[in-house]
Amino acid sequence: MLSYWEKDALCAQDVIIVGGGLLGLSTALSVKEKSPRARILVLERGVFPTGASTRNAGMACFAKACEMLSDIKLQGGEAAAKLAAQRVEGLNLLRSRISDSALEYENLGGYELIRNEDNEITNGDLKFLNELLHPHFDQNVFQFKNEQIDAFGFKGVKQLIYNPLEGQLHSGKLISALWRLINALGVRVITGAEVKSIEENTNNVEVFVNSPVLGEDIRFSAGQVGICTNALNPSFIDEVIQPKPGRGQVLITKEMRGLKLEGSFHFNEGYYYFRNHENRILLGGGRNLDIDGESTSEFGLNDQIQAELEKVLHEIILPDTKVEIDQRWSGIMGFTENKMPIVDRMGKRRAVGFTCNGMGVSLSTLTGEKLAELLVSK
Ligand SMILES: Cc1cc2nc3c(=O)[nH]c(=O)nc-3n(C[C@H](O)[C@H](O)[C@H](O)COP(=O)(O)OP(=O)(O)OC[C@H]3O[C@@H](n4cnc5c(N)ncnc54)[C@H](O)[C@@H]3O)c2cc1C
Repeated sequence: MLSYWEKDALCAQDVIIVGGGLLGLSTALSVKEKSPRARILVLERGVFPTGASTRNAGMACFAKACEMLSDIKLQGGEAAAKLAAQRVEGLNLLRSRISDSALEYENLGGYELIRNEDNEITNGDLKFLNELLHPHFDQNVFQFKNEQIDAFGFKGVKQLIYNPLEGQLHSGKLISALWRLINALGVRVITGAEVKSIEENTNNVEVFVNSPVLGEDIRFSAGQVGICTNALNPSFIDEVIQPKPGRGQVLITKEMRGLKLEGSFHFNEGYYYFRNHENRILLGGGRNLDIDGESTSEFGLNDQIQAELEKVLHEIILPDTKVEIDQRWSGIMGFTENKMPIVDRMGKRRAVGFTCNGMGVSLSTLTGEKLAELLVSK
């Protein structure tokens, strides 16, 4: 049974955010900026965020040439260009809130590898994309950097396309910095608090969290609830609006001497990605090898995919270097059909936001801002 004090001061809130990943924390911050006096609580089921935000590759990327050419077929040119611009706007907002040194943000640029078996990107393709993006960026976003292929030591790569505007950061330090920022503003984050159900009433929304210590559910209440659970599929969200889960697998090497490559790299329409982190390589992807099997919200590793990642590491990225794997892990991404983020009302007092589609580092700040607008406008 809860005490009077607990009910009065701890359970009653103005806004509750369910899910404490990048999007949930960004939304809480935006709500606080818009309503400084609001009592805001973030409920996170994990000991720390446990979905995508602390398990990603930390690439602050917004546009890859091949991926954009394929996205344009899906979304149309203007929508694809606008989405790229929104990612950059989101990243700029993040960097205005948290210093580059706290994020360990480095503007090392992004590259796309076109391998021998891929179709070549033509000058015409890059001209088309640069013209499409020019109104949003005021400069050419893509250029060839084929001279870097040998300098980086890649094998089996015939073209390298460079985007100088992309960067990378430390995903764990990003979450720590967001915690510090929102704590300082008076937003509370409770971890280990898995929301079991949500009930919307005329005057409030009730949010139920099981408490094994008390042996009963704790009933929180709020004027508005924002749901930021990505693709982890809690039962309190309509299935139709849920993003589809896609497991992403990653490995990181031990430190090595004389690592030549710096920056974020993608190939195969974003299915493979790698970056340097200090003197290590972080490499992820391979979901395309088993799309059905990897459409899961269960953490875990798949031997076939891990073997392929090692092959990519040894045959394409570092063909002449002895390198050892230090760690492997997985995280759960959320995907929508058209690759656009979702921000929508589920009721008068409930709204959902999904950053989605493997680009949350740059997009979650702006998506959180839009979700916060819904939560404070009522
Ligand atoms: C392997 C991998 C690599 C990636 N690389 C990049 C990259 O380089 N660049 C990039 O921009 N993006 C990348 N992404 C995507 C990016 O990490 C996501 O877009 C972003 O983190 C999504 O944030 P989120 O807050 O929406 O979701 P999440 O981080 O998944 O947060 C959702 C939270 O909700 C919580 N939750 C779920 N159910 C409940 C419940 N019932 N009660 C309470 N809490 C609940 C979960 O524990 C979780 O912490 C990558 C993702 C993965 C998996």
